[in-house]
Amino acid sequence: MKPKSIKSDELTKIFSSLKKGEESSIGSYLIKGVRLQISKFNLSGAERVQLLYKRRRAQGLCIVCGAKVTKKNVATGNLYRLCETHRKKIDKSE
Ligand SMILES: [Zn+2]
Repeated sequence: MKPKSIKSDELTKIFSSLKKGEESSIGSYLIKGVRLQISKFNLSGAERVQLLYKRRRAQGLCIVCGAKVTKKNVATGNLYRLCETHRKKIDKSE
């Protein structure tokens, strides 16, 4: 996973959500040249995939490849969970 560059005030936010046990703190961060990795310990393969999907979905990224999703579902007003390429491939029914 590519670390996300953050500033020190964002670090405070991440730590406070970590203290509350929120999953939003999970991620890979880069601060002042240091990589900070917050991840769940002893996850099963399925749990890891589920988390990855959830995180990508929350960030508006394609859950399959992590590409930025730009198109919205007109019916719901939400971003699609798949990029155009994967939407055509997988989500034909949506
Ligand atoms: Zn994709």
